[in-house]
Amino acid sequence: MLKIGCHLSASGGFLRMGKEIVSIGGNTFQFFTRNPRGGSAKAVDEKDATDFRAFAEKNGIPVILAHAPYTLNGCSADPSIRDFATRTMADDLMRMEYVPGNLYNFHPGSHVGQGIEAGIEMIAEMLNTILKPEQQTTVLLETMAGKGSEVGSRFEELREILDRVKLQEKMGVCMDTCHVNDAGYDIVNDLDGVLTEFDKVIGLGRLKAIHINDSKNPIGAHKDRHEKIGEGTLGTETILRVMRHDALKELPFYLETPNELDGYEREIKMLKEMY
Ligand code: FE
Ligand code: FE
Ligand code: ZN
Repeated sequence: MLKIGCHLSASGGFLRMGKEIVSIGGNTFQFFTRNPRGGSAKAVDEKDATDFRAFAEKNGIPVILAHAPYTLNGCSADPSIRDFATRTMADDLMRMEYVPGNLYNFHPGSHVGQGIEAGIEMIAEMLNTILKPEQQTTVLLETMAGKGSEVGSRFEELREILDRVKLQEKMGVCMDTCHVNDAGYDIVNDLDGVLTEFDKVIGLGRLKAIHINDSKNPIGAHKDRHEKIGEGTLGTETILRVMRHDALKELPFYLETPNELDGYEREIKMLKEMY
């Protein structure tokens, strides 16, 4: 069964998001765990989490994806920023245990001139501090566009992080179609080749979610500017090929396109019809 949804505003809680995604034709959704600029999160509303779990069961929402604030940087040169990232992620994962069995995605980080290797070491160290054997959430590294000093625009970099994590069974990868294009992977003309490469370097078994975004920029631009489906350099057919691919079709797909709710509703409807 196709799992498709979009990024939603988290305000109002889990149950409200569940109702919202169903109302626009989706069956999964992504949300920021807190203000994307990184502020504090509200106290966990246990009743909301319980009500949502019942709603998700009844309405066929198989999985949801939490997204860490994109400012979280576990490989900053500033130890206080690294410490903040560690505490924020640990707190987010504690909260996710109220809706167990779901996914938590984060941008690996920016090494800000310290070098990719130093960045990789710090990100892995952070994960080794945070991950717990009893946790029921899978933590995903997102494939990045390679803007500035971002770590994770090459599959090899994600592999190196994973290799250093002790509780590897808690880890996965989320592939973003805009980001991989901007990083230089040719999913327009050679999706099979890119996935073969991913499989060789990381292993397709690690892939747990897909962000389906068109891109404003050409391949290899290292920009990270998302575009509406069909209005960018990837095109609707590329997105559909991703969704239909044998290696990917069971994964949940999330739109992070520049849209309000009505635009997401149109894109979900269009993709479901064309699929
Ligand atoms: Fe992201
Ligand atoms: Fe993304
Ligand atoms: Zn992006």
